[in-house]
Amino acid sequence: MDHRKPLIAGNWKMFKTGPEALETADRLVKLLSTTMDVDVMIAPPFTALALVSDLLKKTRISLGAQNLFWEAEGAYTGEISASMLVSAGCRYVIVGHSERRQYFGETDETVNQKIKAAVTNDLIPVMCVGESETERESKETFSVLDRQVQKGLKGFSADEMETLVMAYEPVWAIGTGKTATADQAQEVHLFLREMLEKKFGNNLAKSIRILYGGSVKSDNITELMTMPDIDGALIGGASLEPETFSKIVQFQK
Ligand code: PEP
Repeated sequence: MDHRKPLIAGNWKMFKTGPEALETADRLVKLLSTTMDVDVMIAPPFTALALVSDLLKKTRISLGAQNLFWEAEGAYTGEISASMLVSAGCRYVIVGHSERRQYFGETDETVNQKIKAAVTNDLIPVMCVGESETERESKETFSVLDRQVQKGLKGFSADEMETLVMAYEPVWAIGTGKTATADQAQEVHLFLREMLEKKFGNNLAKSIRILYGGSVKSDNITELMTMPDIDGALIGGASLEPETFSKIVQFQK
């Protein structure tokens, strides 16, 4: 098995209708048709998942969703379950993105329930954590991350966490054009890996991929990826254009 094979993931947020998503994914497939040394995931909006899934079937690009609800089924108008995502072709699901925490009342507790639903249904959770600008300025970065990880991963066994992907996304860097420096990101990634080691043991901590997210572009990905604890990137804005995203995916070249 690959040891922490890099993962480059694109979060399309609330952009693209079904046909637009299909067209974007099709262009991306063509651009990435050569051998890739990285795993690639794209997360279109719910309404485009099934369409894009068909197109990605014979490719090495995986499909992800941007959110899920933790119950298996029921009277939860507007919500989508883990098994629905699996049947739409998803392999990954983003959980606890800062926009969901900020605008939709996501908490560490709901993140915990959603991760549980994901792993129970064999979906790979991409758990987002990160501090706000005020928290960084008041030197609370590490205590905020500690709380998010402790509560978000409360009650899980190491076995359940085998596929977990973590994404460090400082809120002040998302969509702002301000990227954490490679050293700032590495410092946090190491802190997160050490926390994971204390919680789940050395083997798991060594194998969990920790992505960086926050204004990643083709001109900063290479430096970020030279850091020992940065195992890939979660990309918002720059994932919407296949040409730009494919350059990031091919960061080694
Ligand atoms: C994100 O939405 O996860 C993200 C990192 O956005 P951006 O790349 O646009 O900063």
